Amino acid sequence: MLAYTYIEHGKFGLLEKPIPVLEDARDAIVRVTLGSICTSDLHIKHGSVPRAVPGITVGHEMVGIVEQVGAEVESVKPGDRVTVNVETFCGKCFFCRHGYVNNCTDTNGGWALGCRIDGGQAEYVRVPYADQGLNRIPDTVSDEQALLVGDVLATGFWAARISEITEEDTVLIIGAGPTGICTLLCSMLKKPRRIIVCEQSAERIRFVREHYPEVLVIGPENCKDFVRKHSDHGGADVVLEVAGTEDTFRLAWECARPNAIVTIVALYDQPQLLPLPEMYGKNLVFKTGGVDGCDCAEILRLIAAGQIDTTPLITHRFSLEEIDEAYRIFENRLEGVIKVAIVGR
Ligand SMILES: [Zn+2]
Ligand SMILES: [Zn+2]
Repeated sequence: MLAYTYIEHGKFGLLEKPIPVLEDARDAIVRVTLGSICTSDLHIKHGSVPRAVPGITVGHEMVGIVEQVGAEVESVKPGDRVTVNVETFCGKCFFCRHGYVNNCTDTNGGWALGCRIDGGQAEYVRVPYADQGLNRIPDTVSDEQALLVGDVLATGFWAARISEITEEDTVLIIGAGPTGICTLLCSMLKKPRRIIVCEQSAERIRFVREHYPEVLVIGPENCKDFVRKHSDHGGADVVLEVAGTEDTFRLAWECARPNAIVTIVALYDQPQLLPLPEMYGKNLVFKTGGVDGCDCAEILRLIAAGQIDTTPLITHRFSLEEIDEAYRIFENRLEGVIKVAIVGR
């Protein structure tokens, strides 16, 4: 089968590899019908994910059809359409039992697919702990509607959940990339008084204005003043930082009102400064981390009910054979790309 592979620093390539086989009674083999490219794939390509292993098949955002299951798999069977979770988790350890599946203590716990073990920019993928890692897609939900469930949408959902948003709140979301928009969609479900999105790119500002006209949009230069003017208590009640650029961590806590929750979803390239003397008396609550992707069944229910729709984010479609071109467009942010879909064979 064809598998897009991390060859060496800076180089991915489409290689011919054997179809994966079951290695454990809890595994499933999934035929990938639709996949996507995530910014984390680019982080692997450019060497900022040291645990990524050269030779592995990349890709951790995909949907497909179950081909084969191990003897102990109970929740899915061959023929089922499923979403694949970016995270591998056992479901039994202390962290899994508390919903902190990102910290699963299993050897392959956390982000393994397409990083430490073969992922899904390929014709087939082996999914460990299939009962946890796969969710059946309702018949009324299409592959494109479900494509982002296992990664960026799970992240947005988790971010909105831990941010404790109420209907009185002014919510500031910094960054309107794919994860930022998913965070926006999931924050909207909480019906806050207002949502402000801070974004630099003119194309992405236009995208938000066109699709979500009820949301206020502002550039980073004027963000602080704008938030102060458009909030009830001198700043945002909740800030979600999804941009991860040089100045956005500072912007996040500066735009927050005293006692606000500041949720850091972004993955930074560099350490960030926490200037506690400047923050003293602001009594902020910071929440940080990687997604606990354990809400996929609920997300699929919300998609089926018409409450979340990420299909406008899929701006480009390519076949697996054209994946180099898909990466070129995605990596260089050409043609207004937000997400690409890689159509299986
Ligand atoms: Zn990702
Ligand atoms: Zn676990």
